[in-house]
Amino acid sequence: MGKDEGIPVRVALRCRPLVLKEMTEGCKTCLTFIPGEPQLIVGSEKAFTYDYVFDPVTEQEEVYSTAVAPLIKGLFKGYNATVLAYGQTGSGKTYSMGGAYTHDQENELTVGVIPRVIKALFNEIDQRPDWDFQLKVSYLEIYNEEILDLLDSHKDKSSPINIREDPKEGIKIFGLIERDVKAAFDTVRCLEQGNNSRTVASTAMNSQSSRSHAIFTIAIEQRKAGEKNSSFRSKLHLVDLAGSERQKKTKAEGDRLKEGISINRGLLCLGNVISALGDEHKKGSFVPYRDSKLTRLLQDSLGGNSHTLMIACVSPADSNMEETLNTLRYADRAR
Ligand code: ADP
Ligand code: MG
Repeated sequence: MGKDEGIPVRVALRCRPLVLKEMTEGCKTCLTFIPGEPQLIVGSEKAFTYDYVFDPVTEQEEVYSTAVAPLIKGLFKGYNATVLAYGQTGSGKTYSMGGAYTHDQENELTVGVIPRVIKALFNEIDQRPDWDFQLKVSYLEIYNEEILDLLDSHKDKSSPINIREDPKEGIKIFGLIERDVKAAFDTVRCLEQGNNSRTVASTAMNSQSSRSHAIFTIAIEQRKAGEKNSSFRSKLHLVDLAGSERQKKTKAEGDRLKEGISINRGLLCLGNVISALGDEHKKGSFVPYRDSKLTRLLQDSLGGNSHTLMIACVSPADSNMEETLNTLRYADRAR
């Protein structure tokens, strides 16, 4: 990462185009982008600056090559990495991450971050013939502070899943399926399988996917061929976060109240962790990782020996201005 090493968290603001529904409802764009500057203006006055700002016409390829590709290079030097998509439901998190990817997706231009990462990883591996690589993939969802295995098709029989710290491997999730993968195609298959169980669950349980965090993880062990003691590990988490919108309190009753609170807990803790990381150099302040499953799980991949990218997703529509401002402020705290 060259001169950028030591910056633990970078923020990319991404604005999607107006969708058809917003256009037919007569919504207007409330965001203005400054050409050549990583800056945007809300309404007529308030300006925000981030590490990257991607306007509505920015293609998936540009988001990947500008903001994500540097993290992939870092993995081969032993840095952990995390990419997080943040934003209200409908702002483009899943689109950006590629969380609905299928291998027969028609328009290649619309392919999101995860499938591009997979392709790039195996390209890098092909260029290192004198190294042996072992890759493992897992895919989980955190819903109601509970971990669900998206690669487990026999959910009823599965053992309880819990997070522990392993001296060698760092944060480890016991009881979770880890698939050995040897090529891009079988890694993509894990992605598709998990995306599928996510979609099935969301229709059955009514918008569960907007209230859960989905985490696709690739763990890499690399070793110089013939040298037994030269191995090192790195980990990449690709996270499609729960919708950041405020839960309507009037609707929050019984189970729903519980849902609302625990989703907010993950996002709240993430915000606290990320802003504490920003202060770390100045004050060595306490980082509250243990306050939620999400931050506990990402503990060894946020800050420290790792690179983090938050893609903050927003809608340009004036009807969403309040939630957009909330996202812009949350993302601002992360810098
Ligand atoms: P979220 O996951 O945040 O709820 P989605 O990713 O499902 O939101 O996006 C909502 C809608 O907007 C989808 O129809 C998606 O295809 C579309 N969309 C999101 N981002 C873009 C973009 N950058 N370009 C074109 N369409 C987009
Ligand atoms: Mg989504």
